Amino acid sequence: MPDFPMNISIPEAVAALEAALPRPVEEHRPLAQARGRVLSQDLTALCDHPGLDDSALDGIAVRLEDTREADEARPVTLEVIGESRAGAAFGGKLEAGQAVRIYTGAPVPSGADGIVPVERLAFEANRVRVLAPGRAQDIRRQGSDFAVGDLGLPRGTLLRPPALALAAAMGYATLPVWRPWRVALLSTGDEVREPGEALEPGQVYDSNLYGLAALLEEMGVQAVRLPHALDTPEALTAALGPLGEVDLLLTSGGVSMGRYDLVRDLLIDQGQVDFWKVRIRPGGPAILGRWRDLPVFGLPGNPVSALVVFEVIVRPALLRAQGHTGEPHRFTQAVSRSHFRSVEGKTAFWRALLSREGESFAAYAYHNQLSSGLRGLATSNALVVVEPGLEVRPGDTVQAMWL
Ligand code: AMP
Ligand code: MG
Repeated sequence: MPDFPMNISIPEAVAALEAALPRPVEEHRPLAQARGRVLSQDLTALCDHPGLDDSALDGIAVRLEDTREADEARPVTLEVIGESRAGAAFGGKLEAGQAVRIYTGAPVPSGADGIVPVERLAFEANRVRVLAPGRAQDIRRQGSDFAVGDLGLPRGTLLRPPALALAAAMGYATLPVWRPWRVALLSTGDEVREPGEALEPGQVYDSNLYGLAALLEEMGVQAVRLPHALDTPEALTAALGPLGEVDLLLTSGGVSMGRYDLVRDLLIDQGQVDFWKVRIRPGGPAILGRWRDLPVFGLPGNPVSALVVFEVIVRPALLRAQGHTGEPHRFTQAVSRSHFRSVEGKTAFWRALLSREGESFAAYAYHNQLSSGLRGLATSNALVVVEPGLEVRPGDTVQAMWL
């Protein structure tokens, strides 16, 4: 009997990989170089936003009581005593019967408590006819978006573009973030060749290296590409010799039940195994272990299995180990237009095309669901998730994960 867990659930696999990763290292990055990083500290606002009470519109600033009765039939005429624009406030004070020309983002002058939009005004020399009452709601109050000291972005936030905009608005020029993970990638297999090389019968180009490196780099992780290893114990250990400083080794191939599944053998015989096999399809034979202090996550060799396991287990674990608590994927509900099913005990991920049909999305299964079928992965825009033992018929509602 093996002395490690087998056939574990997807959440257990994510948690195990999260636990196997080293502690992340903090660094400070300029705002312009922090995209895709995870915040290592809470960010509180260093300024108010807006910084003063300001106008949401172009128009005039007024005293509400002066324009309360104004409408198209009985306009109110006010004296225009100056203007306030963004970056150059009006210095004086508004008295009864007076108005100040104002523009979006300009400070509201003292004495004013409402705004009339320019569409409801007729200017004549230094006077203005007002065709509608002023509105207090069109004044954006100082600090109403955020005020000094407010928690704007909690640690663990993944810095997507809107979060970067908020960090900038709160006054940060550099951000405390976790250093990107460094992940070494190793493809295994006697049959695997580099794209560009001649292909003998029975050989296959290494697609995993390129797909996985792109997934890692897109999320800001440093991918260290290793030359692919042949299926001998010597070749495998030689490939792992000069690894340098990496946080994780991600292998593909060599983890199922065969004689030449040497990544599995290496971990079992010479390393440590945290788990082997996950209740997922495709990608069931995934393995996690340790070899000479280095966490090793073994992805199955079939390209679809490798990419699905990356999305479902590796990406969430890499983010969680840096304190990211949010959902790493975007999900949507869709109306099934195909038959989807899963086997007992395993969650299935089907390559599917989601397309808008009326108010909702319709999900079409790609016709070839073999785990070697890369074409379907490249032409799909989502994975439909089928919980263990379920069968989905056309017309049923499904959960889909955008790719
Ligand atoms: P394995 O997991 O090593 O048994 O491989 C399963 C299948 O995936 C076999 O058909 C392999 O040829 C294929 N395969 C393994 N590694 C790669 C790779 N890096 N790129 C493309 N196909 C691969
Ligand atoms: Mg192999």
